[in-house]
Amino acid sequence: MKEQNITTSEDVFKLVNGLTLNQKIERSLDLINDAYNEYGDNLIVANSLGKDSCVVWDLAKQVSSDIKGFIVTTPYKPKETKQYMQYFVDRYPETKIFQSDSKVDNLYKTDPDGCCEIFKVEPTREALEHFQSECWVTGLRCTEGRTRTDYREIELRDTGLTKLNPILIWEEREIWQYLAMNSVKVNELYRDGYRSLGCTPCTAISTGDERSGRWVGSSKCGGECGIHTRPLKRQKNSLEQISVEANI
Ligand code: SF4
Repeated sequence: MKEQNITTSEDVFKLVNGLTLNQKIERSLDLINDAYNEYGDNLIVANSLGKDSCVVWDLAKQVSSDIKGFIVTTPYKPKETKQYMQYFVDRYPETKIFQSDSKVDNLYKTDPDGCCEIFKVEPTREALEHFQSECWVTGLRCTEGRTRTDYREIELRDTGLTKLNPILIWEEREIWQYLAMNSVKVNELYRDGYRSLGCTPCTAISTGDERSGRWVGSSKCGGECGIHTRPLKRQKNSLEQISVEANI
C-alpha cells in the first residue's frame, strides 16, 4: 500500500471532525478491502479484546470471512478478559493466541517498559512472524489519548510490514454506536466503567482521556505498551546472522 496524501495530524483531525459515522464506516471498509486485495492471507488483524478491536474485527469480517486474527495475552490479564478471550476464540477459531513463556514475575512494579516488551511486544513479533504478515491491522484511534495523536491510517514504519489503522479517525462515542447498532458482544469490564483495558496491575477506572487509567502512578501513565512504537518486523537477514553465529 502507498502512504496516503494525509501528511499532518491536522489533516487527520479534520477527518475526525468532518466525516459522519457512516462515512467513517465506508472509509474503514475501503481501507481494509484495499489492504486485503493487496496482501491476502499475509494480512492479519491484531485483537486486544477491547472495544476498538471488536469494531475492527467486525469490519474485517465484512470484507472477508477468511481474514485471520491474533490475540496477545499475558499472565496479568483480568479474569473477565480471559473469559471474553475464550468466548472469542470459540466463536472465531481463526484467531490464534500468543503468550510469552517467560517466568519473569512482578517486573511491572519496577520496569513496566521491560515487562511490556516481554509480555506484549515480543509475542506480537512472534505472531506477525508466524503468519508471515506483510500487513497487520490494529484498532488504534487518534483521539484515545496524548500518545496517539500523531499516527496515520497507513503506516510504513517497519520495512516489509505495513500497519493499517482503519478506525484511526473514529471517536469513542462512534465506537459504542457501531457496537450497539451491530449487537457486538464486548468485554464485561466495560460495565464497571473502564474505558481502556489492559493488564490488572496496570489498569484503573479513570476520569481523564480514554487511556489515562493505564499505568497510573508510573512514568508510563497514559502511555504505550510498545506495539505501536517499537520495531516489530524481525528482519530475515538478522535472523540468519543469529543462526550463523550460533553455529560458530
Ligand atoms: S501492562 Fe503491566 S503487567 Fe501487562 S505487560 Fe505491561 S507492565 Fe506488564
